[in-house]
Amino acid sequence: MPYPSSGLTKAERDKAFRQRHAEKISAKKKEKYAANREAISAKRRAEYAADIEARRALQRVRALIDPETRRAKRRAWYQRNAEKMRAYSAAQKRKHAESTRAINQRRRALKAAAPGTLTADDIAAVSAAQGHRCAWCSLKRKLTVDHITPLFRGGHHTKSNIQMLCRSCNSKKGHADPIAFAQREGLLL
Ligand SMILES: [Zn+2]
Repeated sequence: MPYPSSGLTKAERDKAFRQRHAEKISAKKKEKYAANREAISAKRRAEYAADIEARRALQRVRALIDPETRRAKRRAWYQRNAEKMRAYSAAQKRKHAESTRAINQRRRALKAAAPGTLTADDIAAVSAAQGHRCAWCSLKRKLTVDHITPLFRGGHHTKSNIQMLCRSCNSKKGHADPIAFAQREGLLL
């Protein structure tokens, strides 16, 4: 309904007001965000944790529906972008060569120093016990060895301290303490 004084609707007046005071409003928003940063990120974390199961279920369903089309789509995408991807990964590799070397060195040193031994048979047995599925997301993907308690935290390089995770879950877990990781993912209290 137009205001008699201006001939503008309320929405138009509000919009004009927001435009006139854009800077002040944005500063206020920022201020409010800064004051509540902790609460806001806690809320986001809680929301993320709350529907992680739903997201996983959706992922599993999507993987089941028409895997051939999904694979074909992915292949087509890679073919279209092969050149770009190669250039990108070469650049990334160069960029990270040094830190990768350092990380690998540290990993080898940790493995050598960690108590216990792990054989190829052990790895195969653990993978079979998991039905060759990722221990975390249950998807059938290429699996990597994960130290449940990271070597970095004093975990042993033994069969009882490993699980097989897909690359994505493994990198998500990183060096996290297993309990802390599960809590972060909303699984343990
Ligand atoms: Zn996984």
